[in-house]
Amino acid sequence: MPRIDPLPKNLSPDALLRSLGITEPRDIDVEAIAYYVGLRIKRRCLNCCEAMITGRGNKGIISVVPGGMPQRERFSIAHELGHWAQHRGETIACRSSDIGKFSNKNEQERAADFYAANLLMPLAMFKAECRQHRRLDLKALKAVAGVFNTSLTATLIRMIDSGNYPTVIMISHGTGGRKWHKLAAGIPGYWRPRDDLDVESFAFELLHNPDSKDEGFPRKIGADAWFDNWSAEKYVITEQSLRIRGEGVVTILDLDPKMIP
Ligand SMILES: [Zn+2]
Repeated sequence: MPRIDPLPKNLSPDALLRSLGITEPRDIDVEAIAYYVGLRIKRRCLNCCEAMITGRGNKGIISVVPGGMPQRERFSIAHELGHWAQHRGETIACRSSDIGKFSNKNEQERAADFYAANLLMPLAMFKAECRQHRRLDLKALKAVAGVFNTSLTATLIRMIDSGNYPTVIMISHGTGGRKWHKLAAGIPGYWRPRDDLDVESFAFELLHNPDSKDEGFPRKIGADAWFDNWSAEKYVITEQSLRIRGEGVVTILDLDPKMIP
């Protein structure tokens, strides 16, 4: 792969992939892309961060902590490529809480996450893959994550953002309670999930019983198990929960289309 030297600043992930002739998810090799834009990858222990980028002029080094999940490492490298494209000239150290969380507080970290998502899961390729799966369930999630070699969490966020699944909400729980949630665009804010986890929900079982296994199929449950909204008791939704290492329990809720005006 020839290098682009110097790499134009703010080159979009799509333009970068185009310049490399990449049209298939399997050809998105982040290490080769890093080399192509003047960066080397070093795996080394870092104090208090998961990945960082240092650079001078048109050359730089991405450092990543070794030993993580390969999909997580790819996302971290792609995130640092985002800093290189958008914040070049700065040394940036990224904690694990900065990478892949699409932070609402830190503009720079959020921008690097969006860059990473666009590089690893280019929207046109991603939407085409999503169209192979009518429902967003665990089976579809694992299939799409396998095609793009991305983590389940990053893939699920992207599937919801793709617009292909307008009735889906994802919720992440740790033992301390709900960590975060994401609604497909167009779902009204009054369908924000409850703060607490219903003891009847499968997610509760998964969170508190280490012997329980992920749900094989989505199952039906009354919407009032997940929502406080006064009209929730009128609707039946589906839920499917899974354990994700480092994340806790993630639940995919698929709403009744009648819940969305
Ligand atoms: Zn960062």
